[in-house]
Amino acid sequence: MLEVALKLLEEITSRGFKAYIVGGFVRDYILGINSNDIDITTSATPKDIKEIFDDSCLPSEDYGSVTVIMKGIRFEITTFRKEIGYIDNRRPAEVKYIDDLYEDLLRRDFTINTICMDEDGNIVDLLNGQEDLKNGVIKTVGIAKDRFEEDVLRILRAVRFATILDFRLDNEVIDAIKDRRELLSSLSYNRKKEELDKIFGSSYANKGIELLLGLGLDKYLELENLSKVKCTSSLIGVWTVLDVLDKYPFSANERELISAVKEALNYNNLDPYTLYRFGLYANSVAGEINGYDIKNITESYNNLVIQSKKDLDISSQDIMNCLNREPGSYLKEIYGDVERQVLYKRLENNKDRIIEYIISKYR
Ligand code: ATP
Ligand code: MG
Repeated sequence: MLEVALKLLEEITSRGFKAYIVGGFVRDYILGINSNDIDITTSATPKDIKEIFDDSCLPSEDYGSVTVIMKGIRFEITTFRKEIGYIDNRRPAEVKYIDDLYEDLLRRDFTINTICMDEDGNIVDLLNGQEDLKNGVIKTVGIAKDRFEEDVLRILRAVRFATILDFRLDNEVIDAIKDRRELLSSLSYNRKKEELDKIFGSSYANKGIELLLGLGLDKYLELENLSKVKCTSSLIGVWTVLDVLDKYPFSANERELISAVKEALNYNNLDPYTLYRFGLYANSVAGEINGYDIKNITESYNNLVIQSKKDLDISSQDIMNCLNREPGSYLKEIYGDVERQVLYKRLENNKDRIIEYIISKYR
């Protein structure tokens, strides 16, 4: 991976431009963490980059950035830039291409995100990022209050990096976050959700939640239930307790899972019918929140007589035949009844037995 990246840098530098790997990849590389996206910063303009890598360029989404795919790895190549003025506490008003790495690093958020690597694999560290990385501390580049006011997303990025890397926030950063936190209400729910997903999905999610609470961000993120979130290993579990389906954007799949977990929370997650109805996933997540042992839930689930309707030794046609009736909503009722009888082992999952039961009760 690194090899491919260095080769790509050389493609650029051999044409007389400057180019470095920067940001997350270098930070994670020094920490011994694998990362899949590589950010490259260069004096070459997007036009230059497109000329060099024409076939491998994706249509660019961000102004001044080109995405190049090489050997299946994604490279985000961004031209050295100066950002002038900010609007909406989020975006620069104007972006100017420049030729100087140092100036480009000054517009970046945190010192640990300014460490670069050149085409020979040498670390280039103009803002002492390595020291902060070694000390496990998140410091802004420049005055923290100003940097958070320019772009309020940086507040959540600070919490995200402190969470994921298990780092601490520098005191100046803590003060500045408390000072600027109201600005979070102007940040789009999409951006908030993206960062919160990374925080809640981290193996240090509990630290992230403590940080958000300690910094008083729950109010500005409209997460009234944040203090109720107990240790849960799943992102969906956290969002279920937060109960913000009406505010934050969720995919159809997330919505479905959250709704199932929310329902399953109201029941005994070791109960066969509950396990059957909501499935292993929703019950495991709900069970963890309800304080059950996940191992018991998995075991109970695996011991269910049937795990889905198709495991039942009877079909709709069988039911209609034995009752001599046309299709109708009564089928659903009978299915529900039979499922329960079988799950609670009051009725054997055997076609003849089930038919006897149905005839005796419904004919
Ligand atoms: P990861 O990719 O692991 O999420 P990253 O640090 O690479 O983390 P990216 O969003 O990929 O983050 O951004 C790449 C680099 O761009 C960052 O390392 C940082 O130097 C700079 N950057 C990103 N977002 C901001 C921002 N909002 N303000 C200032 N600089 C930023
Ligand atoms: Mg990155």
